[in-house]
Amino acid sequence: MTSLFADLHIHIGSAKGKAVKITASRQLQLRTIIYHDAPRKGLDMVGIVDSGSTLVSAEIEEMLADGDLVELEKGGFIARNGVLLISACEVESREGVHIISYLPTMQRIRDWQAYIKSRVHNTRLSTQKVDASILDLIMLSSQLDGIFCFAHAFTPHKGVYGMWTDKLASKLGEDIRHIKVLELGLSADTDMADMLEETRGCTFLSNSDAHSSPNVGREYNLLRMGEKNFQELRLCLANKNGRRVLANYGMHPSLGKYHRSFCPGCDKIITDEPPISLCPLCGNSKIVMGVFDRIVVIRDYDSPRHPNERPPYYYRIPLKDLPGIGPKTYNKLLGVFPNEIELIEKILLEDISMVAGGTIAATIRDMRLGRLGISAGGGGKYGKVKKDSSNQ
Ligand SMILES: [Zn+2]
Ligand SMILES: [Zn+2]
Repeated sequence: MTSLFADLHIHIGSAKGKAVKITASRQLQLRTIIYHDAPRKGLDMVGIVDSGSTLVSAEIEEMLADGDLVELEKGGFIARNGVLLISACEVESREGVHIISYLPTMQRIRDWQAYIKSRVHNTRLSTQKVDASILDLIMLSSQLDGIFCFAHAFTPHKGVYGMWTDKLASKLGEDIRHIKVLELGLSADTDMADMLEETRGCTFLSNSDAHSSPNVGREYNLLRMGEKNFQELRLCLANKNGRRVLANYGMHPSLGKYHRSFCPGCDKIITDEPPISLCPLCGNSKIVMGVFDRIVVIRDYDSPRHPNERPPYYYRIPLKDLPGIGPKTYNKLLGVFPNEIELIEKILLEDISMVAGGTIAATIRDMRLGRLGISAGGGGKYGKVKKDSSNQ
């Protein structure tokens, strides 16, 4: 058995010189993610959710031809540097919900594309609206030996619980049995999600949804698997044969950009007692519901009830977002230590202190202990780590 760090929701800004995810940085490219961003962050595995774009699949094929990637017999693609690429497709269902299907092979990507082709406007672009229902996509994923996952399940605009339903069971009925994996999204954590009853049997993922290189791995998972391939990932996410998610690492939900309700009229994040569905300042009911507020509305329990097998959730913040760490300090640290996850998780504070000074070592210590002060995000604005939140 081996323990692997994985970020399973990364977008592609451009491929074959053309835009894929319009809102993403053009520099966010397949080769860069695999050969630069992943090793720098310390990720063993990356899930590319734009693999269904015809531009991206063409690049995967090109890398296979060049030997920069090798397709594994048990699914997945291994790079020369040992990074495992998991291909995936994030799309928007007819209902407006974002879903991800992780697919094992090049052939399955082609099968996915064949189905999607006549149902989207543009086969090159990321996260297209597909003329297919959630249930159609669940079935498609299952027919293609994929792993189905609701993306950022609680976000107001595109999350399944954020915009579609209070109870999956009421919409999906029996078919809820196909739902095994849920992505928490930046604005939620395990404590929040475990206030729902129907997802107790689900595996939770904490992924970055990165639209730029620096955000790759801003959230990640530690996975226990037999070896690096798709079949093992499937076992891991199904919590089978000793494979499982060992831990989730994510930003404090308050840092997420949809954590609390937001009034566009007042341009204000509302921090009053949740749930806020009406602006207390102007009475506006057209607010952007916060993820926390939404969970308070739909929850079954007043406090989290974790199933026994639920792994711990650790609050982590990318080094670049910590107070006092600018590009210079960041590069200095990465020049000495192997990668960012090592720095966040393991490197001795004394050693960090010798390179970057005591204040920065103390900030990293406080992050490890979950002791940094935070002001909440909402309505599309990220929360912030408070400047002098570090207790020296
Ligand atoms: Zn999405
Ligand atoms: Zn996404």
